[in-house]
Amino acid sequence: MKRNPTAFLKEEFDALVAQKLNWELRTLQGPSRPHSVVDGKEVIMLCSNNYLNLSNHPKVVEGAIEAAKKYGAGSGSVRAIAGNMAIHEEVERELAAFKGTESSLVYQTGFAANAGLIPQLADKGDIIISDALNHGSIIDGVRLSKADRGVYAHNDMGELERVLKEADGKYRRILIITDGVFSMDGDIAPLDEIYKLAQEYGAMTYVDDAHGEGVMGPDGRGMSAHFGLEGKIDVEMGTFSKAYGVVGGLVAGSRDLINYAFNKSRTWLLSGSHPPAVSGAQLASIKVLKTEPQHVKQLWENTNYFKKELVEMGFDTGNSVTPITPVIVGESAKAKDLSRRLIEEGVFALPIIFPMVAKDKARIRAMMNAGLKGDDIDYVLSTFEKIGKELGII
Ligand SMILES: *Cc1c(COP(=O)(O)O)cnc(C)c1O
Repeated sequence: MKRNPTAFLKEEFDALVAQKLNWELRTLQGPSRPHSVVDGKEVIMLCSNNYLNLSNHPKVVEGAIEAAKKYGAGSGSVRAIAGNMAIHEEVERELAAFKGTESSLVYQTGFAANAGLIPQLADKGDIIISDALNHGSIIDGVRLSKADRGVYAHNDMGELERVLKEADGKYRRILIITDGVFSMDGDIAPLDEIYKLAQEYGAMTYVDDAHGEGVMGPDGRGMSAHFGLEGKIDVEMGTFSKAYGVVGGLVAGSRDLINYAFNKSRTWLLSGSHPPAVSGAQLASIKVLKTEPQHVKQLWENTNYFKKELVEMGFDTGNSVTPITPVIVGESAKAKDLSRRLIEEGVFALPIIFPMVAKDKARIRAMMNAGLKGDDIDYVLSTFEKIGKELGII
């Protein structure tokens, strides 16, 4: 048959554009920091996951430069063959000590950690039980597994227990997996209750703490520390791409877990290791978290102030208890208008709309940052108030 084999590329892209579901990329003309230049315009950055502004911390930048000078630009191989450098191992030792676990392992990204490790933890004859609002990388990791799947309504412990009861005795292994902090709503998983249920039913626990690390718990040690469960969650997964300000996935847990994880995860075994500059920055970033508690403290001062003022103005910030602050406005069109006007006024905050969230729950997602000054936050707040009134939201 004669046909154009790539016609679908343009057709499907055009369909996305027609539905206004395509991504239009914006360009930063400099570093990602509290005051950034985006598409040529200076804005206050409210969309970044760089919670502690560590991507611009002199020690973290210096860590990258020094490691590149010492070890070169690339590692030359996968870790398992000839790309395992002393600096990769140094990061893992520092990280385990920081997280209070026996051991840790760095993956290329958080996505690679979930996609590589989850399918190895549960196979045919096992079940993975997942929160309905878990991150896409968890969903893909689960899809790569031959295990059965159970889903419980978001944070619904009654339903989790029902699924566990049903699974009890039927499966070889049970794996419960949840985001620590949920990225769209900024609410948190009740890890203490999940841990208790897991103990009761002999299930493994896996927490994706991408938005909790560097944010939750003393010194930003993460959600397990927040709940006093250090070393008790079987798999603590996270990322260096958010509060740590660099890039890279991570898993922390027992020596047994780490030995198993790196011998089995195909994303780890078959993909080149981090450039030394990445590892140098990761190492410096962990050290900054350990020795400079002021960043996490400032993040929370900013967060608490920002949320309190927004709520007092009459905005709906949902169930958020973290720096991820949804400002829920309802209709998608309204969220888009709010975002467009905020950007015009120099506040970079983007809308999250259907199908990413329910049709009537469109929102602006504002991420607080430790690097914002009081004047910046007051400017953001007064801009939200002005435009919120203009658009009839408050
Ligand atoms: C960002 C994120 C990831 C992916 O981490 P990367 O290191 O950026 O690939 C995984 N899980 C959750 C919950 C995330 O928010």
